[in-house]
Amino acid sequence: MTGQTPERDISVSFELFPPKTEAGIEKLGHTVDRLAEAGPAYFSVTYGAGGSTRERTRQVVDAVASRSGLPVAQHLTCVGASRAEIDRQAQGLWDAGIRRIVALRGDLPEGETLAEDGYHDGAELVEGLRRIGDFDISVAAYPEVHPEAASDQGDLDHLKRKIDAGANRAITQYAFDTDTVLRFVDRARKAGISAPIVPGIMPVANFASLKRFSSGCGASIPTWMEEMFAGLDETPDLRSMVATSVAVEQCRRFVAEGLTEFHIYTLNKPDVTLAICRALGLPATIRADRAA
Ligand SMILES: Cc1cc2nc3c(=O)[nH]c(=O)nc-3n(C[C@H](O)[C@H](O)[C@H](O)COP(=O)(O)OP(=O)(O)OC[C@H]3O[C@@H](n4cnc5c(N)ncnc54)[C@H](O)[C@@H]3O)c2cc1C
Repeated sequence: MTGQTPERDISVSFELFPPKTEAGIEKLGHTVDRLAEAGPAYFSVTYGAGGSTRERTRQVVDAVASRSGLPVAQHLTCVGASRAEIDRQAQGLWDAGIRRIVALRGDLPEGETLAEDGYHDGAELVEGLRRIGDFDISVAAYPEVHPEAASDQGDLDHLKRKIDAGANRAITQYAFDTDTVLRFVDRARKAGISAPIVPGIMPVANFASLKRFSSGCGASIPTWMEEMFAGLDETPDLRSMVATSVAVEQCRRFVAEGLTEFHIYTLNKPDVTLAICRALGLPATIRADRAA
């Protein structure tokens, strides 16, 4: 596949979502302090559907950047906004020194149509952002195929358009079947996509919520996971241990196949993410000590 890379090259980024309250934002500060212990390459902060968290996302991006001293990527969706509005926001990010964007089309609220004068998809958004500044741009990729895709090939062609428009990397939707992700990466390479493809890793928290969310975004839950997590929502400590081992096993297989960058959907909870990182030898001092 992509060639073996030594374990010491593993790097992670951590995705956060903006809490709804000031108290939540305060609590997130402590979560960020703890997550920073693993030495992530950057944090990212999601953007509510249709720009619903626009102000809070930006507030959290600034707070995480100043608290951690690490780079922070802002997620930015373009549905429901005009090109001029998106360009203004992107210019504001550039002027504030924010250099990383996870560029997404986003999902339209039920019954709404795309803004006539807006960017119509992720590829158009990337083109627009490139006109504004030399951002580091990530886009989304779908190992299990986006629910709106006309076909597997159409989905991959669209990803290639996003990369060709100037995206630096693709971050995948989480997929628990590791072979599915590895096959997707192979197909992407054969389709001429050479940019890094970073597996998104979802540590299982509440299993019932995960199932609901997954059915909406086209991510399947394998039967073995149903069995493995059955009843564990009542015993969260045990669930966290199982969730850690599932994610570590998946990451180790990726590493063996040469994929060494991971984007962890932290769900704003530090412990399982930190446990995964430690098992993978992060922070780097753990690996240095092991190698000595
Ligand atoms: C890593 C990651 C982070 C995310 N963060 C957020 C977030 O912060 N906020 C949020 O609201 N959502 C987020 N999402 C979800 C995302 O907004 C949805 O999956 C959305 O439905 C698609 O956005 P996109 O940028 O992938 O769209 P696009 O890639 O533009 O389109 C999605 C799919 O539709 C089809 N398609 C679209 N346009 C065309 C075209 N012109 N020609 C052919 N096919 C086309 C393709 O199959 C494509 O894969 C995230 C997803 C991922 C994987």
